[in-house]
Amino acid sequence: MIVAIDGPAGAGKSTIAERVGAALGFTYLNSGAIYRAVTWKALQLNQPDAEPQRIAAIAGELELTYQDGVLYVDGQRRDDALRGEAIDRYVSRHSAVQPVREMVNNRLRAIASRQDVIVEGRDIATVVFPDADVKIYLDASVEMRAQRRWEQQESDLTLDEIRRRIAERDELDRKKRTGSLKQAADALYLDTSVLTIDEVCETVIKTIRETQQYREQQRTYGR
Ligand code: C5P
Repeated sequence: MIVAIDGPAGAGKSTIAERVGAALGFTYLNSGAIYRAVTWKALQLNQPDAEPQRIAAIAGELELTYQDGVLYVDGQRRDDALRGEAIDRYVSRHSAVQPVREMVNNRLRAIASRQDVIVEGRDIATVVFPDADVKIYLDASVEMRAQRRWEQQESDLTLDEIRRRIAERDELDRKKRTGSLKQAADALYLDTSVLTIDEVCETVIKTIRETQQYREQQRTYGR
């Protein structure tokens, strides 16, 4: 079965998707990490400002594998390298390139055809898996999201600067021609500014367990 989680940067998607996936035995897929891998490669090649066509070619040549919920980029796990400020600066632009989106979407669909998945991103419930069994939209105020990023201490930026960059990325992500950030009409809206991580996880797990698809799988496989 497919659980789709969308929402803006810093709303808590990764933490929640990872925890819920582990609790229910679903493979966790982070679509943003694949877009980040494309930007990482463009930076490695010193071509982050290249034309869309070149960015598409870079994405096409990138060696990506997903194993047990872990993404390997050009043969290695690069979780930290995918999180830098330079990547944040370019990733929205690179992910607006249509062939890049197609490459990512095809990969996600291929993985989901073989196993139960919980996938997070911006357009998962609207474009990638419009027929997902469960759709969640996680939101939080810009202030709260900036505060969380600042507390993670991943950069030397001030709180104000982080807030500004998050707002800029939101704007770019909402304006994309395809795959823009928006809530699916049939998604459950959860605001993580007013709920704890545990509360959100509980609600998501309960929602999944109540679906017919999950119950049928339980009856068939005794999961
Ligand atoms: O989720 P994360 O912040 O890591 O995603 C990085 C960027 O990748 C986002 O800002 C967005 O521009 C892009 N993205 C996207 N569609 C997705 C997931 C991420 O365009 N499904």
